Amino acid sequence: MRTSSKARAPHLVTTTPEAPRQTLDLATAGDTPILREYRAIKADFPDAIVLARLGDFFEMFGPDAEQAAPILGLALTGRGFGAAGRLPMCGFPHQALPQQVRKLLDSGHSAAVWDQVGEVVAGKLVRRAVTRVLSPGMVVEAELLESSSVSRCVGVFVDHGRTGIAAFDPNTQHLELLEVAGGVDGVALGDELARLDTTEVLVPDGTSVPSPFGAGARVTPLAPALFDLSRAAERLRAATGAISLDGLGVDAVPAALRAAGAVLAYCERARIVISPELLRIQVSASDGAMRLDAHTRRNLELFTRLGGSGSSLLQLLDATRTPMGVRLLRARLHEPLTAVGDITRRLDSVTTLRDARDVRRRLREALAGVRDLERLVARCVQGIATPRDLGSIRDTCAALDATGAAVHDINGSQELIEAAAHCVAPRGLRDRLQELLADELPATAADGGAIRPGADVDLDALRTSGSSARSYLAALESTERERTGIRSLRVGYNRVFGYYIEVPNAQRERVPDDYARKQTLAGAERFVTPDLKEHEAIVLHARDRAVAREVELLAEATALVAGEARALADAAAGVAILDVTQSLATVAEEQHWVRPSVDMSTVLRIVGGRHPLVERTLGPGRFVPNDLALDDGARIVVLTGPNMAGKSTYLRQTASIVLLAQIGSYVPAEEATIGVCDRIFTRIGAHDDLSGGLSTFMVEMAETAAILRQASSRSLVILDEIGRGTSTYDGVSIAQAVVEYLHDAPQLNCRTLFATHFHELTVLAGQLPRVRNARVEVVEDGADITFLHRIVPGGADRSYGVHVARLAGIPGGVVVRARQLLAEQERARPLAGGGGHGSDQLTLPMASPGPHPVMSELASLDLDAMTPIAALNKLVELHGRAVR
Ligand code: ADP
Ligand code: MG
Repeated sequence: MRTSSKARAPHLVTTTPEAPRQTLDLATAGDTPILREYRAIKADFPDAIVLARLGDFFEMFGPDAEQAAPILGLALTGRGFGAAGRLPMCGFPHQALPQQVRKLLDSGHSAAVWDQVGEVVAGKLVRRAVTRVLSPGMVVEAELLESSSVSRCVGVFVDHGRTGIAAFDPNTQHLELLEVAGGVDGVALGDELARLDTTEVLVPDGTSVPSPFGAGARVTPLAPALFDLSRAAERLRAATGAISLDGLGVDAVPAALRAAGAVLAYCERARIVISPELLRIQVSASDGAMRLDAHTRRNLELFTRLGGSGSSLLQLLDATRTPMGVRLLRARLHEPLTAVGDITRRLDSVTTLRDARDVRRRLREALAGVRDLERLVARCVQGIATPRDLGSIRDTCAALDATGAAVHDINGSQELIEAAAHCVAPRGLRDRLQELLADELPATAADGGAIRPGADVDLDALRTSGSSARSYLAALESTERERTGIRSLRVGYNRVFGYYIEVPNAQRERVPDDYARKQTLAGAERFVTPDLKEHEAIVLHARDRAVAREVELLAEATALVAGEARALADAAAGVAILDVTQSLATVAEEQHWVRPSVDMSTVLRIVGGRHPLVERTLGPGRFVPNDLALDDGARIVVLTGPNMAGKSTYLRQTASIVLLAQIGSYVPAEEATIGVCDRIFTRIGAHDDLSGGLSTFMVEMAETAAILRQASSRSLVILDEIGRGTSTYDGVSIAQAVVEYLHDAPQLNCRTLFATHFHELTVLAGQLPRVRNARVEVVEDGADITFLHRIVPGGADRSYGVHVARLAGIPGGVVVRARQLLAEQERARPLAGGGGHGSDQLTLPMASPGPHPVMSELASLDLDAMTPIAALNKLVELHGRAVR
């Protein structure tokens, strides 16, 4: 046992042998050199927590330590600095850096890593430098990134009512520039920040940003000078390595260019290397893609399921095999297309792979071998790739060729042919990695063993030169036991003293003369011999030099990869397209979806449409498909039916089908013709902004107002239960006015689905030529109703609210009382336009004398002045009194 631990011992030595914990040099008198240095660093990075590497530990001092200790779960201690006095301090072992940085980022801090660089010589002051400044938008480290998501750092600059946006992903080094109307509090900016998966926003210092901003992204104020226009152009030129910026189109977006300048300056500060090879600058036009607002993303459950459980649309569509694939799928969901040609091209690709089953199967197999090439390359560019990262690139090179070969003889889709053409590994790189790297790779270069035996003559020589000395040490225990006759003698190793021979005190007198005492323990004595020292030196020295050589060779390989960054990034992009396409093809087949026909009409015709997520939740055969037909003559459907009948589901499935079609996917229907929509607006359900304290009704009206302002005649508008948040009379009136406006306003007249449980609204179909009624079919059997979930033409004649109350388990007494009250109300104030329908519900039990005290109290409430929480509490109280 001991022999084996001894044999492994040298592997613990790294290229930077640990000096004893170096807090000692801090404790020496006066304003120590390290404290002076620390203060200078802190002045450069006042807003970051500075992590100072001292020996095996990262330490924080002063206010940084006080802030970080509770976040990192560390004990706060103090340390004297001579004349400078005591400073609070805390620290953690250097191995814990990734986890601890994660915690700092999650709590909204950034971290400057002030590391030891160069060789560490015991006793000398080591050289230190800030190697990385990590903030939420500036992360390239594998341990800190999720492979399925993207995080971008976004610069924002407002100029004359327009907002310039520069979005940068430090991994792919894609820089997207665009401008939108409005300021920092504008809707358009908020939508873009969400689309861009923003984790950090850079704004000029002094900008007042509304909160919450950019879906929880961290806001980092920077010196306004960093947004200077001419310096921005200069920085961009330097980064691209180009002499001029002509042809990039940045002139058209000066505010975005300024924002880009700040982003590049911030990269420099973060120590992110910008590779001219990798950097890709894209100026986006605001057309060509559909902008989705936050409500629609949430209502259509693109990325998270409402109510928590069940899969999101992304998860449903995700049959990808690579991280690049799932990230591209996410990006496509974020940004549906609006150009018929682009949509058709994507659909052609999906059709091709859907029909070519064998190709798809081979492609899926090949893709399974492709690692996260995009980020592996990024780490090589930053010089932080591990031996295993390089190994993953080697393996991916082989898988790339297989991927390209799998779709080699595909035809019918130009997009796929081009993507496949990019799937080639640079031959020289591939061969070099194969001959250089061992099959099994260590986690770090310092562990040794990353380079294949035979790959490098120098390394082989160093490795063999240590081997005879190693076998001497391995045999030492038995030879010394024999020589001295001390049976309990053992040979051991520790990091501070190196190799030693340990003899228990009981055997002390048998120790030979050539043993020199090194360390005294409680029950034993440790010795070295000149011979032992000599062999130890050979082993350690040879090992150090071998590791140093390996580090050199690995750095060469890393640089080789960085040099091919462009080709590899193209390959990664090709992989992403093939992967997304096969994913959509696979899902289309498995879920029995059809190819939509997409055109420039304003028709929306769906036969046998299903809600993709509800269908999946219900299980096979349980979902009732429904049709929809909107065209120039029929623009608005008013859908009535009781609660729980399926109105919301129908609305959402329609929007989902349109969205799926416009990302270039098949759709859950038997047939679908979709005239391209420029935007999809949804106002669904009464989700309260509980934390914001706005009343339900305010939220509802604000969202509706935003839709009426922004929609165009090409938009799809989904309005679910408008007016629910206020009294029936207000609600019906507002709902009616909204439908009339959508119908009559010339800039609107857009395709609209309007669901309501106010059956009074069915009269609109008789008054407005392009409004149609539809209702959800219900079978009534005495007091019971059954939902068929089938949508049929015509309006519901009553609201069934009382039935639903019964279904929901409201006590019988309350239901009866509710009927009485409803009857009274409607007699007192018949609804305008309600006609005969409203009186249907008067065939109810008799009115009671005088108002019930609960009703009086209800009437006296000022709903707009109540927070949702207060309203809920009141409701509980009133309900309690009503059932008593
Ligand atoms: P509403 O908006 O009319 O109150 P929902 O659309 O919320 O009703 O639907 C209520 C429930 O009915 C859904 O959760 C779902 O389980 C079921 N449902 C809705 N539409 C269908 C359908 N077409 N086929 C089967 N079940 C459905
Ligand atoms: Mg509903």
